Amino acid sequence: MTVSVLPASPSAFAKATWDDVAPYFDELAARPLDPSSIESWLLAWSTLEELVTEAAARAMIAYTIDTGDPDKEADHLRFSTEVLPRMEERSVELARRLVESGYSTPNLSTTLARFRTQIEIFRDENVPIFAELEEHSARYQRITGSITVEWDGVERPLPQLQPFLKSSDRAVRERAFRASTRPYLDRRDELSALFDKMYQLRMRAARNAGFANFRDYIFPAKFRFDYTPADCERFHDAVERAVAPAVERVLESRRQRLGLKVLRPWDLAVDPYRPRTLRPFANATEFVGTAQRVFDRVDPSLGREFQTMIDEGLLDLESRKGKAPGGYCETLHFHGRPFIFMNAVGLVDDVMTLLHEAGHAFHAFAAHEQPLIWQRHPGSEAAELASMSMELLAAPHLTQPVGYFAPEDAESAWLEHLEDVLLSLVHIASVDAFQTWIYTSGQGGDADARDAEWLRLRSRFERGVDWSGLEQERVARWYRQLHIFLYPFYYIEYGIAQIGALQIWRNSLDDPKRAVARYRDALALGAVRGLPEIYRTAGARLTFDADAIGELVLLVEREIGRVRAKLSSGEGLQSPERRVANGS
Ligand SMILES: [Zn+2]
Repeated sequence: MTVSVLPASPSAFAKATWDDVAPYFDELAARPLDPSSIESWLLAWSTLEELVTEAAARAMIAYTIDTGDPDKEADHLRFSTEVLPRMEERSVELARRLVESGYSTPNLSTTLARFRTQIEIFRDENVPIFAELEEHSARYQRITGSITVEWDGVERPLPQLQPFLKSSDRAVRERAFRASTRPYLDRRDELSALFDKMYQLRMRAARNAGFANFRDYIFPAKFRFDYTPADCERFHDAVERAVAPAVERVLESRRQRLGLKVLRPWDLAVDPYRPRTLRPFANATEFVGTAQRVFDRVDPSLGREFQTMIDEGLLDLESRKGKAPGGYCETLHFHGRPFIFMNAVGLVDDVMTLLHEAGHAFHAFAAHEQPLIWQRHPGSEAAELASMSMELLAAPHLTQPVGYFAPEDAESAWLEHLEDVLLSLVHIASVDAFQTWIYTSGQGGDADARDAEWLRLRSRFERGVDWSGLEQERVARWYRQLHIFLYPFYYIEYGIAQIGALQIWRNSLDDPKRAVARYRDALALGAVRGLPEIYRTAGARLTFDADAIGELVLLVEREIGRVRAKLSSGEGLQSPERRVANGS
């Protein structure tokens, strides 16, 4: 069969099975390679992968928008369990041809390093293992996606309980906390049995590839060339020393402000200055339109890119029953477009999530300038640098009339974000240390030992909250952390990226235009440079150092102090009616 001509669009592969795709790989595998033909061969291979991954991405998007539709689930599963794993197998074969040809260019050196590693750790017997893992992942999505809670007589998906977690009425907050934790407690045995299977499969895959455990496998598998497991442990220590005490101070101030004896887990989301739920937008149109103006202020070219997403229907943002939980930004590689998925319910968190996902989207636009698919995605550390920096760079533009908030609400949203930065670093250290323990301790296959270790790590990193009598609820948190199930070891990246993002933000305090320009230069590098150079280009340093992290934490704490002082001094302006309405 001759298949020298590729389909003109990914839609040709929408219903494809592996048998429809395989002939194109056969042809690429058989085509003679010589110096004069290698570039067109590379381009054909890259285009084929663009077409198939975009078809797979579109199937995944359709499924997560409507998890109850069996046809969409079947399409998504066919790609994720059949087509993509087999394509990866054939890609390794083509990568081997490329590596053996000796062909190289400066902008291909990072790609070749990844290919070499991929070849080294690839094992035929792991292909069905990863396919089976995908099926278990889909099951996790199904279980968690179908969770609804009855709240005041209405069946609601979990994200819709979030406003009640921020209620100024402590009893409502507690009820919302317990209601959103309960479904995970009820499914604990089911989810831990599912995780047992995933654990066993991952450990087997690692051993098949010649590694002692899955942690040692994941470093090369995730192309972590620029840092080591020891660096991650330095990061945990740095968080324990520099961040955990800062979080404790932040929470102590929150406790005093709320006038409580102790902080319970349901006291963490309420705004202690303006204890009412901010509603930054009323509907998706307003949500999106305001975002467009904000990005336009950060940089007009980012505003134009976001407008393209609006015009081309590349956003699905509102929470609806049947949607998978969470949010993501997926790249459609053939068309060079990103797609953003969210479960927005009208809260400040939704604004922050959209800023985050839009950072990924801007990365996809910028990196698409790179000609080959492998030259675009630099790994999650740089990807999250793009998204987390956008959360900070957009912050000065969130005030009306451009942005979402009245001036004092903008300050309290900013305060919440800064506190979240510190709290999330603590969570990141917990999740990374937990996964490290799971895959290296020898006890990761024991459900009770896992829960006990999670509690131990939570007490190590997370201070200032009284969890007494709520051990099971505290345990439930890790079952909700979908990365641990679906994307193992994907978490420290958020920490590495946050440390970079804080440096970019620090630069922006001196010169916002230059900070954004350097940020965009870094995104445009795609995957053609290593992490340290991407960070340098962005104006930051890749670091796990407790002193460097401590300096940034100090800067954040100072800014928190400044915002708090401003919010406190503005209190005289509050009308008496509002005080009554707030219940304060
Ligand atoms: Zn992200």
